[in-house]
Amino acid sequence: MADRSVGALIVGGGAAGAACAEALHEGGFGDAILLAGREADPPYERPPASKGYLAGTQDRDACLFHDAAWYSKRSIELAPRVSVMRLDTAARTATLSTKEVVEYGVALVATGSNVRRLRVDGAQLQGIHYLRALGNSDAIRADAEQSERVVLVGGSYIACEVAATLTSLGRRCTMVMLEDAPLSGHFGPAAGRFFGTLLRDHGVELVCGDGLERLEGSERVERVVTASGRELPADMVVMGTGAMPDVMLARAAGLELGETGGVVCSSALETSASGVWAAGDMCEYDSVLHGGRVRIEHHEVARAQGGAAAAAMLGTRRPYSELPYFWTDLSDWCTAEWVGITEAPEHEIVRGSLDDGEFSVLHLAGGRLVATLSVGRGDDLAHAQRLIAAGTDLSGRDDELASGDLEAL
Ligand SMILES: Cc1cc2nc3c(=O)[nH]c(=O)nc-3n(C[C@H](O)[C@H](O)[C@H](O)COP(=O)(O)OP(=O)(O)OC[C@H]3O[C@@H](n4cnc5c(N)ncnc54)[C@H](O)[C@@H]3O)c2cc1C
Repeated sequence: MADRSVGALIVGGGAAGAACAEALHEGGFGDAILLAGREADPPYERPPASKGYLAGTQDRDACLFHDAAWYSKRSIELAPRVSVMRLDTAARTATLSTKEVVEYGVALVATGSNVRRLRVDGAQLQGIHYLRALGNSDAIRADAEQSERVVLVGGSYIACEVAATLTSLGRRCTMVMLEDAPLSGHFGPAAGRFFGTLLRDHGVELVCGDGLERLEGSERVERVVTASGRELPADMVVMGTGAMPDVMLARAAGLELGETGGVVCSSALETSASGVWAAGDMCEYDSVLHGGRVRIEHHEVARAQGGAAAAAMLGTRRPYSELPYFWTDLSDWCTAEWVGITEAPEHEIVRGSLDDGEFSVLHLAGGRLVATLSVGRGDDLAHAQRLIAAGTDLSGRDDELASGDLEAL
């Protein structure tokens, strides 16, 4: 027996969950909306946690999508510090950590990701940080105030952004990564060279093509030992070792899981249980754009998917077909923006100048543009979006792509 019922239950107060609640309200959803989130804060943006919030230039309130009053004025019941412990998709009920059982009409599961923890010797030492929430960012900033040398493990955007932010705060940062160059896994070798030079020029030491072997120290971390045997002195360590979709609730509820570890969804983001949608980092959906199932861990994608799930709940079921967009900021040194449908191109073309820091890298596969990274060339990004979405055949047009007018293509 349920204690009460709501029209829509949203599980997870992150980017996707908040966007879904907003869109349900804006779309005139006539019934009660309950947004249950495990964290203490109202839904907030995570990107500042490695950028402005970590640097201390953006305060906590500025990270919130809306303050708590915004939700209550719109009759969205915000339940912070509340976890959904169990979902019975046949009975359409959810058991909350408050022990309350809530019956729902439709539900969104938007439980996001958790950090991927490395199990290495020394992992339990003090001074080792992972970054997912604002609280982690607080802890990193507080520890950085007492530290001189910071080692960052990983070559992806979290490690790069934190290295840039902490270097700007005066810390000596060293990055250890398996990749040959920072961000090359996401953006390809040409961009990797650019980011490598940028980070080095600002004083970040890069240890590339090497992995973490163990962490050493008595109580607190004192050094990082790499797979090749290098010893890097460290007063603190930030692990940027990726994220894993949080499917604990979904798995227990019997929702089908996919190859990438996410929750399998239709092209309209509905899960294997009728009336239950998924959105954001843990949503592995059948993408018409990609021609198969994908799972994407980007802020704007989570927001757009939350909105699309709300539209489906309101009766407009369409294949989700927004072109993924992502950005990263390395302190105030550089902002890079990316659009695309794959991260493994066959061929790349550089427009502009990597040396001048104003360029685009066009990724092609099968004669078609599949992704573009731009630094300081917003127009290129807009044209790339059009060319990718249209699937224009660009075979044999490398010269025009490198230096011609993209508008004419
Ligand atoms: C430090 C950092 C910087 C980033 N920077 C960028 C960037 O520059 N650009 C970009 O595009 N992307 C960036 N991202 C990625 C982006 O933030 C994520 O893709 C986005 O937050 C995903 O949103 P989500 O709603 O799917 O999940 P999340 O934001 O992870 O939210 C999920 C929420 O669900 C809660 N939850 C889980 N299980 C339950 C449960 N059973 N009951 C209740 N609540 C539950 C979690 O506690 C969490 O609050 C960054 C991420 C991090 C961590």
